[in-house]
Amino acid sequence: MVDKERVKKAVTDILEAIGEDTSREGLVETPDRIARMYEEIFGGMNEDCHEILSKRFTVDNNEMVVERDITFYSMCEHHLLPFFGKAHVAYVPNGEVVGLSKLARTVEVFARRPQIQERMTAQIADAIMKELKPQGVMVMLEAEHMCMTMRGIKKPGSTTVTVATRGDFVDNEKLQSTFYGRVKNFRVGH
Ligand code: ZN
Repeated sequence: MVDKERVKKAVTDILEAIGEDTSREGLVETPDRIARMYEEIFGGMNEDCHEILSKRFTVDNNEMVVERDITFYSMCEHHLLPFFGKAHVAYVPNGEVVGLSKLARTVEVFARRPQIQERMTAQIADAIMKELKPQGVMVMLEAEHMCMTMRGIKKPGSTTVTVATRGDFVDNEKLQSTFYGRVKNFRVGH
């Protein structure tokens, strides 16, 4: 749980430390607003995917399932600035599948924490391997990092791409290229 009183105090401290007057109209409610917002955007801190991925359905064929363009927003743990983009999640079932919305929920659980994109990619893949026990998982995240665009080297539009493979996808170029093909081609409405 987010300790809202502590967040409020800390935000007040930061504002005062940069020279702001925290009693002025626009800032009076800012610490409280941020404390409530942190409950939402860091709400994945105490969540795991066990329950989310526990409702499963039996299937007869084990064709690859791809859920692509899952929009996510996370916070870079080095700067506490947002990074955001799309997640693409695929797995080869082992007799069982989960509801498609559960893959998006899994992405959310790991996005709503202080994160680095590389770890988030691995955590999504590992959670699906652990809970669903498919034959393989592949996860790709494409994201823009505000710490790259509004500060430091200021490279707007640059995208960071990370990939994680588990099980059958590891070192399997054919499966991986099927994944890339489904993520990149035949886009609905494009
Ligand atoms: Zn950063």
